[in-house]
Amino acid sequence: MPFVSSFAPGRVELLGNHTDYNQGVVLSAAIDLGITARGRRREDGRIVLTSDGIAGVVEAGVADLAAKDSWADYPLGVTKVLKDAGYPVGGFEAEFSSTLPPGAGLSSSAALEVSTAVLLTRIFDFAIAPLDLAKLCRKAENEFVGVSCGLLDQVSSLFGKKDHAIYLDCRAETVATIPFPHDVGLLIVHSGVKHALTGGEYNERRDQCFEAAKILGVPALRDATSAQLAAAAMPPLVKRRAAHIVGENERVFAAVDFLKQGDVAAFGRLMSDSHRSSIGNFENSTGELDALVEIAGGQPGVYGARLTGGGFGGAIVALVDLAAIDTIAQAVEAGYLQKTGNKGTAYRCLLGDGALMHG
Ligand code: ADP
Ligand code: MG
Repeated sequence: MPFVSSFAPGRVELLGNHTDYNQGVVLSAAIDLGITARGRRREDGRIVLTSDGIAGVVEAGVADLAAKDSWADYPLGVTKVLKDAGYPVGGFEAEFSSTLPPGAGLSSSAALEVSTAVLLTRIFDFAIAPLDLAKLCRKAENEFVGVSCGLLDQVSSLFGKKDHAIYLDCRAETVATIPFPHDVGLLIVHSGVKHALTGGEYNERRDQCFEAAKILGVPALRDATSAQLAAAAMPPLVKRRAAHIVGENERVFAAVDFLKQGDVAAFGRLMSDSHRSSIGNFENSTGELDALVEIAGGQPGVYGARLTGGGFGGAIVALVDLAAIDTIAQAVEAGYLQKTGNKGTAYRCLLGDGALMHG
C-alpha cells in the first residue's frame, strides 16, 4: 500500500472575541505552522499511530474505538466519527510530525484532527464536503475527547488560505476567505501564563451575555447594535460584558470593509480597540497580556495587537510589517522579560494555507 500525506495548520483569532456562543462573526487566520500526517491502509483492521513529539506507539482496532486518555484520542475520535457517519474507513497506520507547539492556544488539537480527517479521505479515497468534515472533527473533539470547542479551529485549519483571513459566521455556519496584503505578518506571543480557565469565568461571561440578550429581547447578542445597547436599562456589569460582544461583531464587519480597501492600519486599530474592550468591558485580559500588547503596540511596524482566544492568560497576536517582524519579536520578548520577569515566546507567522490547499 502506498503512503499518502496531509498537512493541517494551526490558527489564530484576529477579531471577534467570544462571539461564537453569541451567534456572531469572527475573523481568524491559518498560520504556517502545523501538523503533517503520513500514512497508509492496513488490511488487518488495526490502527497504529505515532507522533514525533511523543514516545511510543498507540494501537487500536477500528471495530472497537474508545477514548484512551491519550493524544491519540484526537485521531481515533476523528476515525470513529467518520466511520459512524458512514464513510469507508478501515485499519491504517499514520505518523504525525508537528511544527506547532501544543497547548499554546494555536489549536494543535484541531490541526491533529483535520490532518487525520484529510489523510483518511486520501487513504480510503472518499470525498466529503469541507464544512461537513470540519463539523465532524469538532464532533470528535466534543464527544470523543470530551473538550467543548466551537467550529472556528477546524474551519480555520481546513479553509485557511495564504495571505487571506477567514471569516466565519457562527450562526449561519458559513465561511469566506478575505484577501490580506502579503507584506503583513502575524506575531503571536505566548505570555507563559496558562489559561486559568477552569470554566468558572467562561461560564459566568456566557451567562452574562445570555442575560443581556434576554433583557434586550433579542435571540442572541448577534442581533443587538451598540446604539440599542447604550439605550437599554440593565445592570452595568452585564452591559459592559454585552458591549464587548456587540463591539466585537461590529469590529469584524468594519474590518472586512477595511480589508476590501487594503487598509491594514485601520484593521490594526480595530485589534487594539478589541484589546481595550477586553480590559474594560469583558475583563478577560491579564497583566501579562496587557504588558505584551502595550510593548508590541509601541514598536515601529506594529499595526495593532490584542489578546487572542479565550483570554485569562494565553497569547496575544500582533499584526506587523513583515519586513520588521524579527526586530519586533526580539523587542517584545526582551521588553516583556524586563517588565514582568516572565519569559514570553514569540512565533513569527504568515497567514498560511489550510489543509484543503495542501494537495
Ligand atoms: P491547543 O489546541 O491550543 O494546542 P489543546 O489542549 O486543545 O491545545 O490540544 C493539545 C493536545 O493535542 C496535546 O495535549 C496533545 O494531546 C495533542 N497534540 C498536539 N500536538 C500533537 C502532536 N504533535 N503529537 C501528538 N499529539 C499532539
Ligand atoms: Mg485545542
